Amino acid sequence: DDGDTATASDAGAGRRLRVFFLPSFARGHLIPQTDLACLMAAARPGEVEATMVVTPANAALIAPTVARAAAAGHAVRVLRHPFPDVGLGDGVECLATAPAQDAWRVYRAMELVQTSHESLLREHRPDAIVSDVPFWWTTVVAAELGVPRLTFHPVGVFPQLAMNNLFKMRADIIRMSSAPGTVVSVPSLPGKEITIPVSELPSFLVQDDHLSKSWEQIKAFQLAGFGVIVNTFVDLELPYCEEFSRVDARRAYFVGPLAQPSCSTVHRGGDSDVDCLSWLSTKPSRSVVFVCFGSWAHFSATQSRELALGLEASNQPFLWVVRSDASQWAPEGWEQRVAGRGMVVRGWAPQVAVLGHPSVGAFLTHCGWNSVLEAASAGVPVLTWPLVFEQFINERLVTGVAAFGARVWEGGTRGERAGEAETAVPAVAIARAVAGFMERGAQRDGVEASARDLAGRARAAVGENGSSWRDIHRLIDDLVQARASGLPEERPIKA
Ligand code: UDP
Repeated sequence: DDGDTATASDAGAGRRLRVFFLPSFARGHLIPQTDLACLMAAARPGEVEATMVVTPANAALIAPTVARAAAAGHAVRVLRHPFPDVGLGDGVECLATAPAQDAWRVYRAMELVQTSHESLLREHRPDAIVSDVPFWWTTVVAAELGVPRLTFHPVGVFPQLAMNNLFKMRADIIRMSSAPGTVVSVPSLPGKEITIPVSELPSFLVQDDHLSKSWEQIKAFQLAGFGVIVNTFVDLELPYCEEFSRVDARRAYFVGPLAQPSCSTVHRGGDSDVDCLSWLSTKPSRSVVFVCFGSWAHFSATQSRELALGLEASNQPFLWVVRSDASQWAPEGWEQRVAGRGMVVRGWAPQVAVLGHPSVGAFLTHCGWNSVLEAASAGVPVLTWPLVFEQFINERLVTGVAAFGARVWEGGTRGERAGEAETAVPAVAIARAVAGFMERGAQRDGVEASARDLAGRARAAVGENGSSWRDIHRLIDDLVQARASGLPEERPIKA
């Protein structure tokens, strides 16, 4: 039973706290939110019942994680609803599986799902709603039902505060964007000054798109809701967590890293190639470079070939997850030449298990938030290669603030327009960076020590009485109390 049976008739006093989770249509959101659901059910066995509200293909992606939680006796259910008709093929229900040119359809689906959400929530009347950032309307339904709505943020507070503050100067940014090489300083951030070239900013800050139109509405309904749950831990982003609690949420809960052994399996987020784990075991300790760019960002065939040649020339063992559909992702004969030293996974790797493997010595990553957090938790130093959206901001946390990584490449074209024929990072630069990083230079020792230190802090945060452990329990206590005594006064919605 995958728990599709959650019904309104479950209602009644003294019963478990029924929390509904509504993730958006991206694996980097779906995966940690499922982890959160499992963790909340596991934190208070018998007290919390978690229901993932998902579309059929996304239900299939989380099925292994849900099944594992259920097998451990935790009340985690799945409630399916149809994916909105936006002209995508059968079973294409998230950014990871949609072709790059159809990403806008997935974003459209994130708007059209409002009707399904509203009717499901009214029908099932959960005790609390945890929903993804774009689903602002869940604050409205929650208020109507008299239950808390929490926003789940799969992205840390450093990038969130940076984007908030940059959004406030958006008109200036747009004006400056025509001058090549313009750099902005992120306003009103605690800690040291953070600067970023306009070309590396998420596109909604520089031009009009679906997000620039809905940003203020999303924020207003987040602030009007009961609180915000963030996949981070306080020791990773301390001054920013304090600032976030002050300005961006009525209540903030920092509950990460959510990828914990109690929730994650090797098939977390999809069917994984597990052979790579036994392959890793044939390699010396900390010798392998793990190369993975997340679940959806576009990587051109040209750039992919340069990367292939760069990894070959680096002479380092590597494990590379290739998502490209292009047949020309590597030069002719390349796979034979690197056989033995390098392994390629086509599709989906068990990333958390890979990062936890003792043979992995570095992570070449696009700096998606989950990847950043998973690297920090595993104590693996990173080489940063951001591609889109807030990944360039995350990079500054990794290389500057938390200092457990270095850029793969300085100079050249960076930003969302990089990677095409004339702007691709050349193989020789990649080879030099990867080899240099793996050979134990002074810089690497520093980042390695920081990574190890962060791993210890991440473990402590989720361990009994750690900061994230306490926040999970505080969250459940607050929700139980809200059910017993009704919602405290609401902040008016200023959308
Ligand atoms: N992931 C994985 N195997 C892969 C690629 C990605 O398990 O082959 C997981 C990874 O562990 C992370 C998530 O997918 O939890 C990707 O999220 P992230 O925020 O890093 O990047 P996004 O996909 O959102 O760009």
